[in-house]
Amino acid sequence: MHHLLFKLPAMLPPNENTKVAAKILTAAVGFTFFCGAMWAIWVVRMFRRDRHRLENHCCLNCGYDLRYTKDRCPECGQVIERQTRAER
Ligand SMILES: [Zn+2]
Repeated sequence: MHHLLFKLPAMLPPNENTKVAAKILTAAVGFTFFCGAMWAIWVVRMFRRDRHRLENHCCLNCGYDLRYTKDRCPECGQVIERQTRAER
């Protein structure tokens, strides 16, 4: 009989404490989802920017035009790997 008392608070109607706890939990979950969404948008934007730079033969690090450069970015010194091999 005594162990039922431990389960009782969860079955009771919400009081001020549970309301505050629910608000904090909602805020925490919402914040986590918000951060996840921001991170996902950031990753997609980075991916698109890199693809755009690869397609336009630009430096992946700074975006400098590398069409007339073969081995190293003159702007930031980034070593060009397979970027110029895609040239037609
Ligand atoms: Zn660069």
